[in-house]
Amino acid sequence: MFNLILFGPPGSGKGTQSERLVEKYGGVHLSTGNLLRAEIAQKTPLGLEAKSFIDKGQLVPDEVVIGMVDSYFDLHKDARGFLFDGFPRTVAQAKALDRLLELKKTAISSVLALEVNEEELVKRLLNRGKTSGRSDDTDESVIRKRFSVYTDETSPVAEHYRKARKFHPIEGVGSVDAIFDRLCEAIEKQLKKESGH
Ligand code: ADP
Repeated sequence: MFNLILFGPPGSGKGTQSERLVEKYGGVHLSTGNLLRAEIAQKTPLGLEAKSFIDKGQLVPDEVVIGMVDSYFDLHKDARGFLFDGFPRTVAQAKALDRLLELKKTAISSVLALEVNEEELVKRLLNRGKTSGRSDDTDESVIRKRFSVYTDETSPVAEHYRKARKFHPIEGVGSVDAIFDRLCEAIEKQLKKESGH
């Protein structure tokens, strides 16, 4: 089983690249942002709670997100592997993920981290906000808040996987195709390593 994390700040291209990666390599795309937005659209109690955090640029509480991921695993028991996008976003989430995967007798193979500078990110997010209908992409102060949350709460997750020697930075500026090629190259390298060649 091959489990990947696509890591990076808001607007770094995780969603776009994840879709292409699962198309090429198979596996299940697990985006906690998408799952939360689906809960919001269906007006579930979880969605209503999540919306109040998302609209302010804050993280949804760990226990809510971890519970949601756990249920998603139950729905996809036969998955060959997962591509995690936007999760884990805190060290507590990373530790919970390690435990959940251990129960499934598997682990994270690799963390691919898209690196993009902040000015480029703000530009991309404001642009996306024009068409996505996402309330958290239209207000620059909410976007800046998401970056500060990223720096404070999410960037320590990088250290968690660096210690495990699983962290691989990838240049995230350039064309979608060029970045996709860089990601594929890193994945092929990992696949070769795991098959013992
Ligand atoms: P982006 O990466 O552009 O911020 P996402 O769709 O991944 O977009 O996330 C949107 C929002 O959903 C986040 O700002 C946060 O409020 C919430 N969210 C998504 N994933 C998580 C998570 N793993 N933990 C806590 N909150 C999350």
